[in-house]
Amino acid sequence: MSFHVMIIPTLGCPSNCKYCWSSEEDSPVMTTETVEDIVKWLQNFRKEPVTFTFHGGEPLLAGADFFRKALPTLADGLHEQGIAFALQTNLWKMTPGIAQILAEYNIPIGSSLDGPQELTNFQRGEGYYEKTMAGYEIAKANGLNVSFICTFTSHSVKFKEDIFKFFLDNGLNLKLHPALPSLRDDNPEKWALPPEEYGELLVYLLDQYLKNLNRIQMMNIDNLCQCYFGGRGTVCTFVDCMGDTFAVGPDGSIYPCYRFVGMPKYVMGNVRDQPTVEDLAKSEPWKLMFQFKDYVDKECGDCTHIKYCRGGCPYNAIAPTEGEVKGVDPHCIAYKRIFEEIVDQANEELFGGGAGSGPAMFGFGGGAPSAPSGKAGIMDIVRKHSTPDEVQY
Ligand code: SF4
Ligand code: SF4
Repeated sequence: MSFHVMIIPTLGCPSNCKYCWSSEEDSPVMTTETVEDIVKWLQNFRKEPVTFTFHGGEPLLAGADFFRKALPTLADGLHEQGIAFALQTNLWKMTPGIAQILAEYNIPIGSSLDGPQELTNFQRGEGYYEKTMAGYEIAKANGLNVSFICTFTSHSVKFKEDIFKFFLDNGLNLKLHPALPSLRDDNPEKWALPPEEYGELLVYLLDQYLKNLNRIQMMNIDNLCQCYFGGRGTVCTFVDCMGDTFAVGPDGSIYPCYRFVGMPKYVMGNVRDQPTVEDLAKSEPWKLMFQFKDYVDKECGDCTHIKYCRGGCPYNAIAPTEGEVKGVDPHCIAYKRIFEEIVDQANEELFGGGAGSGPAMFGFGGGAPSAPSGKAGIMDIVRKHSTPDEVQY
């Protein structure tokens, strides 16, 4: 089975998004020695395919030289077990030089736009949109494949129609992300998208997606449908990510996920010590993540969605309670809302029944009918976008 290592070359970021929770001023940049340590660590850690995602802060702050050395070091050092790369960036620091190196390794890029220019700049700071689009042009010109994540906040959700239209009109595929409470802000809930509103947003977007299925791809909706019909999670939020996901911070510290990077109490070890799985399993953060898994088995035991939801994201659950497992992911309300909508619509399509008519059939393929209304249906989404072999991050 494959696993995932997020590399955080720096926690620094040139942007100043209002709801950000993961950047730090004056953060150091990872050295090439630390990258070499990552290779030595993983050569003996697990003999399985590994996907690296460069994340931040803003990873391109590390500069062209970093990637020129890091990519061949990782690719050559670990080619026997099989590797893949991805990178998440705001694109401001994209240059033709960096783009060419990333293209050489065929690295898919994820970036961020919150919708139309005015809205993006309001939430992410004046000039954000222009700088990201300038980087996007460089990336495109060098053959890189860029998709955008749209963060919906308590403010921007009021403009959901404009945001959807923006992505549709510009031919951009859409992946959405709900703003989380910022743990570094005096007023952490100010920008966070409340779970009830997140659920309604997902239902709205499902409806829009079905009306525009030939014009846009919405990864979250694809994933939610794949989760339900496949009976297993296809994104990290809906699988037991613990033990299969790691993040390495700028100084080589190992964490359970990029979301914990920079918080000393979540350090499980350091790549320079080449810890084994057994070593990491002795650390408190590892135990905490598995405590969450056990908690979900108990607390979500009666939920019909447990198999492909798995209690949601442990970071979302643990962070607001200062590292104690006291609940599942607070987005549970949203997950239930959208899973139930998918079940109801699928049943309507398959049996003309609607809510309460029993579970939809798994793996229905070939000539399944579309929705009775004539617009595309859930089955069309399932047919159009095949289930990924690997968990998406
Ligand atoms: S589910 Fe949450 S904690 Fe786990 S890998 Fe994904 S973002 Fe990180
Ligand atoms: S929908 Fe809620 S109760 Fe059900 S498995 Fe997910 S987190 Fe648990």
